[in-house]
Amino acid sequence: MNQSIWKPLIIFFVMIAAMNLLYAALVQQKGAGEISYSRFRQELAQDNIKSVAMKGHSVKGEFRRKITVELTVQGGTVKRELTAFVTVLPAIADPTLMTELSARNVEVTAISTEPSPLLNALSYTLPWILIIAIWFIGMRSAKAQGPGSFLGGFARSGARVYPVGEQVKVTFDDVAGMESSKQELKEIVDYLKDPKRFQSLGGKVPKGVLLVGPPGTGKTMLARAVAGEAGVAFFSISASQFIEMFVGVGASRVRDLFASAKKSAPSIIFIDELDAVGRSRGAGFGGGHDEREQTLNQLLSEMDGFDQHEEVIVLSATNRPDVLDPALLRPGRFDRHVVIERPDWRDREKILQVHVRKIPLDPAVDLAIIARGTPGMTGADLENLVNEAAITAAREQAEKVTLDHLERAKDKILMGGERKMFISPLEKRITAYHEAGHTLVAKFLPGTDPIHKVTIIPRGMALGITQQLPEDDRYHYPKSYLESRLAVALGGRMAERLVFGEVSTGAQSDLKMVTDLAEKMVCQWGMSDKVGPMTFSRGEEHPFLGRKLAEEKSFSEEMAWLIDQEISVIIRQAEEKAEQLLAGNRPKLDLLAAALQEEETLDGARVEQILAKG
Ligand code: ADP
Ligand code: ZN
Repeated sequence: MNQSIWKPLIIFFVMIAAMNLLYAALVQQKGAGEISYSRFRQELAQDNIKSVAMKGHSVKGEFRRKITVELTVQGGTVKRELTAFVTVLPAIADPTLMTELSARNVEVTAISTEPSPLLNALSYTLPWILIIAIWFIGMRSAKAQGPGSFLGGFARSGARVYPVGEQVKVTFDDVAGMESSKQELKEIVDYLKDPKRFQSLGGKVPKGVLLVGPPGTGKTMLARAVAGEAGVAFFSISASQFIEMFVGVGASRVRDLFASAKKSAPSIIFIDELDAVGRSRGAGFGGGHDEREQTLNQLLSEMDGFDQHEEVIVLSATNRPDVLDPALLRPGRFDRHVVIERPDWRDREKILQVHVRKIPLDPAVDLAIIARGTPGMTGADLENLVNEAAITAAREQAEKVTLDHLERAKDKILMGGERKMFISPLEKRITAYHEAGHTLVAKFLPGTDPIHKVTIIPRGMALGITQQLPEDDRYHYPKSYLESRLAVALGGRMAERLVFGEVSTGAQSDLKMVTDLAEKMVCQWGMSDKVGPMTFSRGEEHPFLGRKLAEEKSFSEEMAWLIDQEISVIIRQAEEKAEQLLAGNRPKLDLLAAALQEEETLDGARVEQILAKG
């Protein structure tokens, strides 16, 4: 806030305090004190009240003769003489008071409870005067600092005027795994450490490096580590911060950011979420957003404006390289790409090791178990998992974080928190058979992932869960594996039909998974002989977002019909396989369902044990 606003405010508060004191002095007559109502009645009975003035429930008055009262002050008692008093009328009306007062010849004055008209008027207008004054002062100081500065200076990058580069402490050692990405960025570190030497050796330095990968895989962390390794200033901004309410603000922020970075060169500029400004210009997304285009143009011209001597490297992160404007990817701009994948289990173990440093971990815990059980999780997910486990341990007042705490945290993240809800015995039975169906099919089909856990405790959206975990991260899926997976997914529904004669709504998410997978088998992986080795835009998923993008259809109606037929055939075959397996092993299915109803959660070993009996 502007300094000049404080002066009138302080004067204002001093005046209020002074008025209060003055008021107190006027009201407090000399020799007046507070007495109880019964004391007042007592004095009245003794004919010792000269006059009273009443205002609402409070009564002021004078005695005819002075009285002595004892006051307790800080433990001791003090005697005080009073010639006047203040007291309060009890809430219960005293009907005889008036008669007694007039009988004793006391002079009675009544004072209106309404505040004085002046005070009244002031209490209405004061807030308005204050609001107008603050507005006025704000506007005046805004004018002095140039347009756009009122309400906090939009026109500067971030909230600051000329951002200050950060000296980062993070190094490559803090980033677990990602060896190949680190190797690629090593060159940039070498350059920033000693630009002259690097150039004299003939090294060609990229101006911009794009880090591409799913959210939470440590792109920001890696960029910071580059700055930390090289020991240079780190300027970071999220591209979404460029986009503000007013046209032209983003562009001026870009200008400021680059100006600051050049001033403290060698330095690194990191732009997170580049796709927020870098989407193709004129593409449907965002409807030709003027502000975004201006910002993007400014960014491009800043990058082109670098000359050889400016030792500034622009790192940028995105999970949508496909939507970026081609102009951004041209030589001299973000022409170097470093792809960051989700970590494999060995890297996951290393990431866990980094994060358990902060918590009291039971030395007996083998982190490889957790690392293997968390396929697809990113660094951020694993950090969250360790955190969650530490919280659970603290809540249970355990001294160390154990494997069990970590396992429970993992389940919570993978399958959602346990839900307390009432489940009727019939529902429980249906769920038990459903999950037993999945489990049994998975056990009997060769090449499926081992069963990790089966539960009929509701979690997240599901009433029960069968969890399978691959033994290792997989990159290739044979057709037979996918077919088995379809059969496992349909096993729950088939078990319900076999036992109860009908299916329930509980299989909805299974069906969605089955449909999506079968669609991909036909349209993406060419696994249908009739359709042949072709790919179609149908069922295509974005590699980093894991969801489908809307795209127009580029095949004939006949082909669309054939695709539908083939998808349906694949699903039907899987359904038949599941049904045969379950019908042929009914006693095992019953055993498993009974154990589930009894124990609610079974791990892989327990499932093995139960099936060995039947
Ligand atoms: P992104 O920018 O890709 O979304 P971040 O760099 O913000 O991801 O990562 C989020 C958090 O995840 C980091 O603060 C870090 O604690 C953790 N993390 C991610 N990858 C790693 C890794 N390889 N080693 C250690 N921690 C990691
Ligand atoms: Zn199911």
